[in-house]
Amino acid sequence: MSRIIGIDLGTTNSCVSIVEGGHPVIIQNDKGERATPSVVAFNDRGDVLVGSAAKRQQAVNPDRTVSSVKRQMGTDWSVRIGGKAWTAQEISAMILRKLRQDAEAYLGEPVTDAVITVPAYFNDIQRQATKDAGRIAGLNVKRIINEPTSAALAYGLNNGMPQKIMVYDLGGGTFDVSIIEIGEGVIEVLATSGDNHLGGDDFDARVADYLMDEFKREQRVDLRRDPAACGRVREAAEQAKKELSGTDTAHISLPFLAQRDGMPVHMEATLTRAKFDQLTADLVERTAGPVRSALQDAGLSPAQLGRVLLVGGSTRIPAVQAKVRQLTGQEPSKNINPDECVAQGAAVQGDILQGSHELAAKGDILLLDVTPLSLSIETVGGVATRLVERNSRLPIHHSQIFSTTAPFQRAVDIHVLQGERPMARDNKSIGRFRLTGIERAMAGVPQIEVTFDIDANGILTVSARDQKTGKAQSITITTNDRMSEDEIQKAIRDAEMYAGADSLYKDSMTAVSEARQLIAKAEAALKEKGKAAEKADRKQVKADVAALSRLLFRCKPEKMNEQDVAALKDAMAKLQASADRLQ
Ligand code: AMP
Repeated sequence: MSRIIGIDLGTTNSCVSIVEGGHPVIIQNDKGERATPSVVAFNDRGDVLVGSAAKRQQAVNPDRTVSSVKRQMGTDWSVRIGGKAWTAQEISAMILRKLRQDAEAYLGEPVTDAVITVPAYFNDIQRQATKDAGRIAGLNVKRIINEPTSAALAYGLNNGMPQKIMVYDLGGGTFDVSIIEIGEGVIEVLATSGDNHLGGDDFDARVADYLMDEFKREQRVDLRRDPAACGRVREAAEQAKKELSGTDTAHISLPFLAQRDGMPVHMEATLTRAKFDQLTADLVERTAGPVRSALQDAGLSPAQLGRVLLVGGSTRIPAVQAKVRQLTGQEPSKNINPDECVAQGAAVQGDILQGSHELAAKGDILLLDVTPLSLSIETVGGVATRLVERNSRLPIHHSQIFSTTAPFQRAVDIHVLQGERPMARDNKSIGRFRLTGIERAMAGVPQIEVTFDIDANGILTVSARDQKTGKAQSITITTNDRMSEDEIQKAIRDAEMYAGADSLYKDSMTAVSEARQLIAKAEAALKEKGKAAEKADRKQVKADVAALSRLLFRCKPEKMNEQDVAALKDAMAKLQASADRLQ
């Protein structure tokens, strides 16, 4: 039996883990990284790159690069690249396939089974889309679990003390806050709240906007018209943001960023932490509402929280940590790695499902997840009649009797809704079906039993049955947002077809990225050595930097041929040699 891997399929980064010797370990990818950027890129020939190779070329190939696709899960979004429209499931499947391959390389055996995590806020369609993505990637998705539950599971392994905790998860694209009860062998989600359009990406965008506004003011060049320049600014903004988690100032240096009157213009800027905090204060403040609402739903005051766990890379931002302190009145725990604990928890869940977990022998850990939003059906007058309250514990089996509104009505339409609003039109429509063959009777006489079943993965099935005739509708929720079996099979075939990455393209991107790093290193060495180095040596390094920068300015990885790569490598070798002489 294949071992079950745990996957944190994140908006910005994804991570894969497996339990070894009773402990979850993070599996490094083929580049030795512990997290793989959730970025997918295509070249002209339709070859696919996933991870940091894709992320690195994003600035020069923005139109054929997809990032933050998790935000699109469960919608009818698609992106047309290379003559094909790719769905969010298909793009996500490419990331999952890469993680699977990395796990296979690490384990030295085929991997077919996985536990995948999703934000607690994901609705049924988004969960189903995640499962479909796993299928396309050749994975049998054993369980979909909520990210905060997963983090708590990783945490619960280290500390068995019964307590109620808050998981504050601010990642790249989503914000989740959950109140969790850790008990004797039971981890229960008491309440969840969040915002699935708030994360580190928004912080990057604020910094990038600021940099571009300043650039326009100073240089009179509108970078927003140049997608490649925008991409580079965005990359630098994220870097500066990360630096500012540890220092008070960050320097942004982007040579040859644009042209004005045929002359190259460069960006040189400094960002202080105070300015960064000012630019992003409202984003940090937006996390307060969900924190209060989760506490309220769980019926807890902040003082009743045993611990507050920080999850997600964006919780490294000092202002975010200060906000958490202010909201909860306590120092958040950092003894759990914010970037890795979700994947680790998923691996633990996989281990439990496999029956080999040390705790499984003691009677298993029960993961009691909750449904993130209320579920209802539309009844007379467009009212949303609730069958399942939000934050109800999974699995759920709930039935309610409904009747007809017109005499001799032979069919009823069941319109399934998700959301908290009282009127049907204000909630999300997640499915519709018709039950026919109802007993001929006066209005209000037929007894129609409507049942909502939500399994442990949070996947919903709705059924309806006329109690008199016994006529039951075997119901699948028909929604265009879901993929049919045929579509999944086709997507699997397409994914196979596009799986091979082109080596020239890879070489081009590697060379471009290494050239950039080399320039940065050489410039740093020039600064560091200063006048201590020979004047002629310094002059040579400057000339070689300029030559390589000029070459780089013209290089677009998707258009480069072997000669271009060779020319770049030559210029790099020259710069390397002159920079070495500075030492
Ligand atoms: P995750 O989805 O948990 O991998 O979080 C990714 C997000 O965390 C991205 O937006 C990163 O830019 C952000 N991030 C990672 N490290 C840091 C850091 N040191 N300071 C601020 N943000 C960070």
